Amino acid sequence: MVYAIDLEGVLAPEIWPALGSHFVLPDLALTTRDLGDFDELMRRRVAATRSRGLTLAHLQGVAHAVEPFLGARDFLGRLRSLGQVVIISDTFHEFSEPLVQKLGGHSLFANRFELDAKGMLEGFKLRIRGQKERIVSGFHGAGFPVAALGDSLNDLSILKSCDWPVLYRPVELLRQEFPKAPVAHNLDEALVHLTAAWRESEKNGSKA
Ligand SMILES: [Mg+2]
Repeated sequence: MVYAIDLEGVLAPEIWPALGSHFVLPDLALTTRDLGDFDELMRRRVAATRSRGLTLAHLQGVAHAVEPFLGARDFLGRLRSLGQVVIISDTFHEFSEPLVQKLGGHSLFANRFELDAKGMLEGFKLRIRGQKERIVSGFHGAGFPVAALGDSLNDLSILKSCDWPVLYRPVELLRQEFPKAPVAHNLDEALVHLTAAWRESEKNGSKA
């Protein structure tokens, strides 16, 4: 079993809004809920950091201080006893690697920044955006069933393509997309649903 878990909103708070309030840059605080076009959203975020002369190191000073939600590390530890844990997120490796270490050092699949000579953000490589479904089909191709946990519309494709979608405090539109999927309101409930998925996959004789 592979557990594909979302990061922001599930295991830890959102990083960009934290940057937005720290640097008092409203354009950094915008999320996909405000602006549906992720490329446009990222262009505005990059432009905002450049307008203030912020380098990646400045941003990392704040991003690296973000702490996981209480219980998130234990939650992943329990899942790890049932299968493989991968964190699949629209975040950026440069922001989130320390956070993932605090969560127990599981595999992170995320995007990367492009920097200019001064160390300021210049662009981005979206390795994950639009690719979540392909990651799931890769695991399927290798014979692994996949259970996924996500909270927002950017998790839609992974939740649709996996074998056991579990919604975490979902936005209403996501809930409507998955009328039959279990909904977890906290990580304890999520663990119950994901353990049930493991039991079912064991019954089906799938790889663990
Ligand atoms: Mg999320």
